[in-house]
Amino acid sequence: MKIANTIGGALVEPAGGAYFDDVDPATGTVCAQVPDSDERDVAAAVEAAQQAFEGWSRTPADERSRLLCRLADLIERDLDELARLESIDTGKPLSVARSVDIPRAVANFRFFATAILHTSGQSHQTDTSSACAINITLRSPRGVAGLISPWNLPLYLLSWKVAPALATGNTAVGKPSELTPMTAHRLGELSIEAGLPPGVLNIVHGTGAKTGAAIVRHPDVPTISFTGGTDTGADIARTAGPMFKRLALECGGKNPTIVFADADFDDALATSVRAAFSNQGQICLCGSRLLVERPVYERFVEQFVERTRTLRVGDPMDHGTDLGALISAEHLAKVESYVALARAEGGTIACGGRRPAPESLGDRCRDGLFMEPTVVTGLDMNCRTNTEEIFGPLVTIMPFDDADHAVELANATRYGLSASVWTRDLDRAHHVAGRLDAGTVWVNCWLLRDLRVPFGGMKSSGLGREGGDEALRFFTEPKNVCIRMGPR
Ligand code: NAD
Repeated sequence: MKIANTIGGALVEPAGGAYFDDVDPATGTVCAQVPDSDERDVAAAVEAAQQAFEGWSRTPADERSRLLCRLADLIERDLDELARLESIDTGKPLSVARSVDIPRAVANFRFFATAILHTSGQSHQTDTSSACAINITLRSPRGVAGLISPWNLPLYLLSWKVAPALATGNTAVGKPSELTPMTAHRLGELSIEAGLPPGVLNIVHGTGAKTGAAIVRHPDVPTISFTGGTDTGADIARTAGPMFKRLALECGGKNPTIVFADADFDDALATSVRAAFSNQGQICLCGSRLLVERPVYERFVEQFVERTRTLRVGDPMDHGTDLGALISAEHLAKVESYVALARAEGGTIACGGRRPAPESLGDRCRDGLFMEPTVVTGLDMNCRTNTEEIFGPLVTIMPFDDADHAVELANATRYGLSASVWTRDLDRAHHVAGRLDAGTVWVNCWLLRDLRVPFGGMKSSGLGREGGDEALRFFTEPKNVCIRMGPR
């Protein structure tokens, strides 16, 4: 596939004419050519978005809604093809792309396209002895939004930004990860087919250092929504902060799964294995630190390891595959380096820790970037393995003594994205949830998502929230109009 930028309603080549390879991590073969876009392409995209802004921001909400619902329908129509592209690009099992990634992209567009028809505004009646007035808070789109997304859930997370930005009347310049450009390329094509006016959605492909950074520093992009690594988020904030840009940063996590002895053991076990290794452990919300109350610790570790060993690592296109390939050779090397580190820090590799034997992967995938799901025990809470984000199929398990101890372990990282708590005691669940440093706490579940709730992290996991009203507010500028009323 030759990837093209979408600028001003047309598919265009990068100004410099340069491309780089996109590699299928499951096979090691080149699957696409990606535009190596630079400042000129970003400038053209921003200009197209600015020109489209006047018309789009004045387009009635019901018409914006109709067009975005049409785009959702087209994504749904092409679900099989898009899922296949997503699986090839990321190495994730096709079954996951079909059941999670692409349906969620459809849902993102439908959710925000209809939300703008049903949300209510704000007004305040001022009634004091000195003045009577009505305050009406208007909300207007902010202009061109720069939307930068990562490789782990490519269309899912890009559409999570594009949908609210466009629904609220902004125009956008999107930049998907350079490692996973294929579905964003198709989104550009589908947006044209859906009839979005030219320039409303522009997509520029390229690296973070060149293309992403050019979007962030462009003076005519007042809103930046970014999802990716914490260090990148800090970099972006350094540029965007002094320019007074509005910034949402959805960054890394090191999420605890807390299992109390009174929990439904089988449910906690099955769900925490899923939370650990879904998408090869490459979801920001994966539960990578398991904290288990001491009375059930030994039994939990034993059964967790047993179940982990049954997970099938292999060809993402096979129905029975649980874990596909990791995203890149660099990322696999990074995750592997944590196996060595965990050993050096005194941990025990209870299972995994290696690449699977090439012959177990079949001919097609023998050169792919696979790793066995890995469980480590016996580590201290403050060691690097337990405090740094690994973002791969490697989890640790630690015992705890009581609720205070669990909270202490859970909060002992610089991250604060999500947590899950397993207990039948609702009081305890409530108290523990209140004390955890996390933007989302799941009780007796994981990744149960409602698109209306605020989504995001605290501490080094980010800044701001996405989802529901939070996203509608983020992409709009409030303006209060105060109308003084005459005496009663
Ligand atoms: P990354 O930070 O390397 O890249 C993310 C995006 O930013 C890519 O499109 C990249 O090209 C771009 N980018 C890189 N440098 C840039 C710069 N200087 N200026 C502007 N753009 C730049 O992250 P990644 O490796 O693609 O994704 C993995 C990370 O994303 C993990 O840390 C994971 O936890 C995080 N993540 C967070 C969430 C969340 O909602 N909190 C969701 C998914 C992933």
